[in-house]
Amino acid sequence: MEIDFSKLGHNLEDKLTSKMLPHIWCSGCSLGTNLQSLVRGAVMTGMDMDKEMVMISGIGCTGRASGYVEFDGFHTTHGRAIPFASGVKTGNPNLEVIVFSGDGDLFSIGGNHFIHAARRKLDMTIICTNNSVYGLTGGQASPTTFEYSTTTTTIDHNLRPFNLVDLALGAGADFVARYTSAHFKILPRIIKQAIETDGVAFIDLISGCPAIYGKRNGYPTADYMVKNFLEASVEIEVKEDGSHLLSENTRVEFDRTKGYTKIPIGVFRRQHR
Ligand code: SF4
Repeated sequence: MEIDFSKLGHNLEDKLTSKMLPHIWCSGCSLGTNLQSLVRGAVMTGMDMDKEMVMISGIGCTGRASGYVEFDGFHTTHGRAIPFASGVKTGNPNLEVIVFSGDGDLFSIGGNHFIHAARRKLDMTIICTNNSVYGLTGGQASPTTFEYSTTTTTIDHNLRPFNLVDLALGAGADFVARYTSAHFKILPRIIKQAIETDGVAFIDLISGCPAIYGKRNGYPTADYMVKNFLEASVEIEVKEDGSHLLSENTRVEFDRTKGYTKIPIGVFRRQHR
């Protein structure tokens, strides 16, 4: 399918490709907005994306994103985006490597790779589009599904989810941030900072999956979900030494009748190795 990007007016014509369109994402999904934020952030770095940047994703709805960009992208195997990224970075350290994948892919089968990547501090950016569910495969619980939210594998009760910010801070990532897909105005700037970090930069990007997660958890529409993200977001003031952050302060809270009740957002750590 050929798309005339010049009619869309987003000025990203040469950064996106129509070769893989139509895309697979559902109407109202946050992934389009997230991809746009990523590409805008990458453009803001001023790098020659064709020669200096590689995007790598695993399996899942987010995994398809690497096929929609015009610069080099790898759609890899389930949970293995970070090992592929480590190989690319080791093979050519001059490349800027961006891992863009979902919570199921990066933190279940790929979880061990994440903690060791953060510990080893290979220079890469890891963005997790965190929609708290396995969307592509039918709505099973993921490592970030909330205790009392409903999925096809947790009808009534789930275990406590991972706090990805806590995990990244504890594992030693150099740049750690959380925003939601509703923060598309600030996100390109945050993504630029992440890409420019020497070391492992991680962004927990809370995202909406209205078709699978939203439908099962009381969200009537996709825009209701986006409004909930904005209302629940609380900017966290980060103290100089960051000592208060390995705690409940960064935990996302969810209520089965109200949706998200608290999403701590901000840049929680900023250091260069
Ligand atoms: S299943 Fe969910 S995450 Fe996947 S494309 Fe649809 S709305 Fe987006």
